[in-house]
Amino acid sequence: MAKKPKFQTPTGMHDILPPEQKYFQKIYEVSENIANFYQFKKIETPILEETELFSKGIGLATDIVGKQMFTLRTKGGDCLTLRPEGTAPVVRAYIKHGMFNLSQPVKLWYFGPCFRYEKPQAGRYRQFWQFGFEVFGEESPVIDAQIIQIFYNILRELKLKNLIIEINSIGDSQCRPYYKKLLMSYFRSRESSLCADCRRRLRENPLRILDCQEEKCQRIISQAPQMIDHLCESCHSHFKEVLEFLDEIELPYRLNPYLVRGLDYYTKTVFEIYEDSEEGRAQGALTGGGRYDALVKLLGGKDTPAVGASTGIERTIAAMKTKAIRLPQESRPKIYLAQLGTLAKRKSLRLLEDFRKAKIQVSESFGRDSLKAQLARADKIEVKYTLILGQREALEGTIIIRDMKTGRQETIKTEKVVREIKKKLNSR
Ligand code: AMP
Repeated sequence: MAKKPKFQTPTGMHDILPPEQKYFQKIYEVSENIANFYQFKKIETPILEETELFSKGIGLATDIVGKQMFTLRTKGGDCLTLRPEGTAPVVRAYIKHGMFNLSQPVKLWYFGPCFRYEKPQAGRYRQFWQFGFEVFGEESPVIDAQIIQIFYNILRELKLKNLIIEINSIGDSQCRPYYKKLLMSYFRSRESSLCADCRRRLRENPLRILDCQEEKCQRIISQAPQMIDHLCESCHSHFKEVLEFLDEIELPYRLNPYLVRGLDYYTKTVFEIYEDSEEGRAQGALTGGGRYDALVKLLGGKDTPAVGASTGIERTIAAMKTKAIRLPQESRPKIYLAQLGTLAKRKSLRLLEDFRKAKIQVSESFGRDSLKAQLARADKIEVKYTLILGQREALEGTIIIRDMKTGRQETIKTEKVVREIKKKLNSR
């Protein structure tokens, strides 16, 4: 058995190798195109933030803050955390840069890695990538529907099918406290049947119990009071309107009365998008998000309604792969440059630069010195023409063009070769 290399990637973290990059690139392109269409501007925030941004923003009782943060102390004594999600940093940036003075809504999008100290398993890593879209300064339910539409469309454009949106409203500071009380008394009377984590959640935030995946808790959750029956009038009509907009644009959704999401900052609408298949369910949501009208103020800004969501890139790629979604082949060079001798090698470097400027891809293997080996390589990668620059040609300022299909060769002046090749490629 081969010896294991001394250095491995840290648990739950992965190299993104060249074959994977084209998926990342495709997802980036599709989200960027949609962002441009809807006029979202790109933002990048630091990977590290002050720990308090997350403990305050996401909530102390959440698993993310309680168990999953990568936190460090700097030499200067600051307590920083690798971002576990993208929304709180974007809110921090919105406040710091006074974006409430811009004309509202402010629409921002991001694409980058997040870190959570989770138990690694399929679709769950310690470093994973997300793209996210956030809208600030708009309270209308039409924006909730538009955010859902945007994420749904990105996944559809990536050729994923059978997508289902799960949606719920978790109310606001008017109606949620009463609902929490109801939940508290419901779960308290069943406390002994809950898992240890949920018994703790019961004391900290009973809403978090609704997120528990333990089977014994799930049974109890399925009979619990539902937020939707206890929404105040404004949350109720907001939710009704969101659903009407979704009906209007014919997006497939399912009400999930126990969907609360793993972050405390949400108000009113919460949603997730799944691939509606067994593997899709097993892997977990591709996208998650909702409205967070209280977060900007909570983090020190002005009272600003907001709504947003994010999609996990690795999960999206896994879904694309199980559906055998093919991506277009990368463009392959049609020209190969073979060289012989030191002078030819030196001239080849300059020639390659001329082709780059003319946007014609050229392959070469400067490390090989035998013409036979170079022609074999040209054959293997199926180029249309091979340029041969031998010692004599290098001295005379000429170059040979070999048509790989017919084997015909012609010698021309080196300064004409880019133009000549361009002509030949265009006439094919
Ligand atoms: P969240 O920030 O928890 O709402 O997650 C948003 C999306 O990020 C999820 O729907 C997943 O697609 C993805 N995601 C969250 N946590 C992980 C993880 N540990 N590993 C991979 N993807 C994740």
